[in-house]
Amino acid sequence: MKKDRTEGIRISPPKRTAVGFPALADTARYALEEMRPARSLKALLKLNQADGFDCPSCAWPDPDPEQRKLAEFCENGAKAVAWEATTKRVTREFFTSHSIAELRTHDDHSLEHNGRLTEPMHLARGADHYAPISWEKAIEIVADRLKGLDDPNRAVFYTSGRASNEAAFVYQLLARRLGTNNLPDCSNMCHESSGAALSETIGVGKGVVTLADITDHAELIVIAGQNPGTCHPRMLTALEVAKKRGARIVAINPLPEAGFGRFRNPQTPRGLVGPGTVLADRHISIRVNGDLALFAGLNRVLVEREDKAPGRVLDRDFIDKYCEGLEDAIAAWRALDWRRIEELSGVGREEIDWLATEVTRADSVIVCWAMGLTQHRNAVATIREIVNFLLLRGNIGRPGAGPSPIRGHSNVQGDRTMGIWEQMPDAFLDKVRDEFGFDPPREHGYDTVDSIRAMRDGKVDVFFALGGNFVAATPDTRVTEAAMANCALTVHVATKLNRSHLYHGAEALLLPCLGRTERDMRATGEQFVTVEDSMSMVHASRGRLAPASDQLRSEVGILTELGHALFGDDLAWREMGSDYRVIRKHIEHVVPGFHAYEDRVATPGGFMLPRPPHDSRTFPTRTGKARFTVNELSGVEVPAGHLLLQTVRAHDQFNTTVYGLDDRYRGISGGRKVVFVHPEDLVALGIDDGTTVDIVSVWADGERRAEGFRVVGYPTARGCAAAYFPEANVLVPLDSTAEVSNTPVSKSIIIRLEPNG
Ligand code: SF4
Repeated sequence: MKKDRTEGIRISPPKRTAVGFPALADTARYALEEMRPARSLKALLKLNQADGFDCPSCAWPDPDPEQRKLAEFCENGAKAVAWEATTKRVTREFFTSHSIAELRTHDDHSLEHNGRLTEPMHLARGADHYAPISWEKAIEIVADRLKGLDDPNRAVFYTSGRASNEAAFVYQLLARRLGTNNLPDCSNMCHESSGAALSETIGVGKGVVTLADITDHAELIVIAGQNPGTCHPRMLTALEVAKKRGARIVAINPLPEAGFGRFRNPQTPRGLVGPGTVLADRHISIRVNGDLALFAGLNRVLVEREDKAPGRVLDRDFIDKYCEGLEDAIAAWRALDWRRIEELSGVGREEIDWLATEVTRADSVIVCWAMGLTQHRNAVATIREIVNFLLLRGNIGRPGAGPSPIRGHSNVQGDRTMGIWEQMPDAFLDKVRDEFGFDPPREHGYDTVDSIRAMRDGKVDVFFALGGNFVAATPDTRVTEAAMANCALTVHVATKLNRSHLYHGAEALLLPCLGRTERDMRATGEQFVTVEDSMSMVHASRGRLAPASDQLRSEVGILTELGHALFGDDLAWREMGSDYRVIRKHIEHVVPGFHAYEDRVATPGGFMLPRPPHDSRTFPTRTGKARFTVNELSGVEVPAGHLLLQTVRAHDQFNTTVYGLDDRYRGISGGRKVVFVHPEDLVALGIDDGTTVDIVSVWADGERRAEGFRVVGYPTARGCAAAYFPEANVLVPLDSTAEVSNTPVSKSIIIRLEPNG
């Protein structure tokens, strides 16, 4: 039951060491709690192996098959597997004894902790309990509602980043066959800003770096707005390899995360019992939203050093041959005011000079980033400025160099490659037309924020979610909950019960599906699926465990049955559903880079998609050149008595999935309702460490309040604060989004703290 989660919270000093024995102990405890020992062993030994299944958690790439260890996973990957492969079950009796109203009082952790969904469930109009329904009837209801729409754009098809390439391809096909591009996805809320900036400047909306670039080649790795220790833990292993080779690592982050400190690699005895490896050479404590100013200042220093030593700082050959727009960018950097750079970034000139020296010492530089950069109003400008930084010294298209946005969900990048986007270009839609013989709609659809607005405004009748926890992942929680209630039908394809299933339309369906760990038997035999990692490697994933219930269907099976119910045999939906090779053949014809798909994915480890800027310094922009851009220096003006809040993830958490109530690295246990504030800011605000406060955000349409958070004095950057999502999502206004990408601004929320009660 939901209770005041501040009561049992215990605080200890933040850790400076990551992984090691505590991670092993936590992994074992969690796996054994959720799965039996034999099942744990069977599942974990197949995790991230060439003949096993892909980790359902983050999208960090795997080493080459011959270099993989017996245990090729991290603590969080093991938790994700245990979460999915749990032996707990949610049965029809569970729903009989729990009403929707009662379930709403349970917190997110407790809801998912109940276990796996086992059969299709239906919430009839006016009912307050889900009740069992047959698959046939459930599919018929969805098809009938979709067929009955006045306009196909009154349907929205949301995708979480777990869907396989095959499921995603069929899903976009189904939506477009229906006549809509309303295909919002979780990428709208995470790396949309990266995609927008990279597409514009280098012509490819993804990172162009490989794992080997990090481990074997980079001389300097800059990690900005990313917390690899919690969000991509196996990255620490790659960083350790790089570090031992002599690479330098700089962490730029408002919080001093443990993953940048001493890494105790559990794969090596020395890592466990020895001193471990200090990964970051320096942590630059940047103000929240200060990255644009920092990189602009850095670029200015590089240009000034080139003035003093012409031909020795910038890579003129690269710039002249491959780039355009440098002169305008230089003029803008020269006009910058240092006071403003320091004020916005919270970083002094001296430290920026130091970083510039590190940069000029390195022949190859990689910049990695994640949500700490993408969820700001000026996020696209920030990432453009990072591209400027890389272009200045030719750090794209040579070993150990380039931009590397690190993706958070296992196939979020692949889903986009497969056409899950509300604004896929005409070239893709033309290929769909040629392959399937119908003309897909060309009008752009709704992204996530626009979908919520449309639902709020009564413009959507059917909301269909392929995985995910839409209500918990999106901003402005109360607005989103109310928006869901405006739909005639909400449908969730899911493995576990979550909050989104409780904020439903007039009628609702829960369609339980197979997880990544489970065997997928179809009419033609056992199937595998494919996924794409953060670094554009496409590989197979084969579930190895028996399904949680014989009532589960694969995502592909559910979607192709729905396609058949909607459109009959027109596109041979059932053929695709019974043999995924048919889908991969279609993908081969439609999506660039997938030639000989079936053969190449049969290779252990899979194959790499083309990345023209990396492979041949080809920049498929409008002009064929990599583009320097001018980015106006902007920041968030925080009124006196206020702080700039970023939402963050706890270590016991993967996106909206909360495995437990601890955040070991930050010294928090027993609860999640905490707000981290610098001790000197607490003194200035007159608030005692340990006080319980309400967090209040201020926006043009009024205030939003998150009640009852314990204040924790913490060494975050001055003027900044942090709290966990989804608890703090309620503070993010729906209309506060990034320029260009429309990503909710979850990393810069102006707040004040008020005494609670
Ligand atoms: S680093 Fe990411 S992909 Fe790898 S095991 Fe951990 S959570 Fe899974």
